Amino acid sequence: MTRMMYGSLLDDDSRYMQYALREAERALESGEVPVGCVIVYEGEIIGKAHNQRETLQDPTAHAEILAITQAAAHFRSWRLEGAKLYVTLEPCPMCAGAIILARIAEVHFGAHDPKAGACGTLMNLLEDKRFNHHPTVFPGLMAEECGTILTRFFRRIREGTGTPKPQRPVGVSELRGVAHEQDVLARRPAQSFPRQFEPERAIFSNFAFDPDAPSMGFDGEFAEGESQA
Ligand SMILES: [Zn+2]
Repeated sequence: MTRMMYGSLLDDDSRYMQYALREAERALESGEVPVGCVIVYEGEIIGKAHNQRETLQDPTAHAEILAITQAAAHFRSWRLEGAKLYVTLEPCPMCAGAIILARIAEVHFGAHDPKAGACGTLMNLLEDKRFNHHPTVFPGLMAEECGTILTRFFRRIREGTGTPKPQRPVGVSELRGVAHEQDVLARRPAQSFPRQFEPERAIFSNFAFDPDAPSMGFDGEFAEGESQA
């Protein structure tokens, strides 16, 4: 009888990390560095993704970035205040930056990343008080399981038995988890969104252009002397 077999016995944080680990497994199956991430708001998973850097041939396609984009689409807002992010590997500087910009409240990560960790290992961007938002960091959650899947992947690579990496172009609908976004929206009635939105003005697709929508660089609260972050 192991903890792994009895999900209901896990505390909430470990349960969400299990979902992130499942995402990491999906990355492993497709020949990607196995990192998975979920974003949770009030007990509901609103973003779920795995690293797709090779599949999308996109250096920004880290699990956290893809999950943040889904969660923002879910809320139709770039503000993810109150959301908790669970990721199997310590976020890199890019992802730590996105986490700060999204105003995510808590970051729970599994394995430390000695090569790129920006949440305590090489630096700690998330708790740098010079930024205007400081997510609380909970390091080392299920670190062993999260590290083991990475070890397995890199061992396979060294032994030359790794899955061949896909090098295929992908359609926009696959990009940034748009299918998933529609999935979560379908399961959640619009009136239950915590923030008000006007559907006719909302930028539902990441790629649609609405000339009346506020630009990403300006949210109406951008006072002189403040940074865009
Ligand atoms: Zn990253």
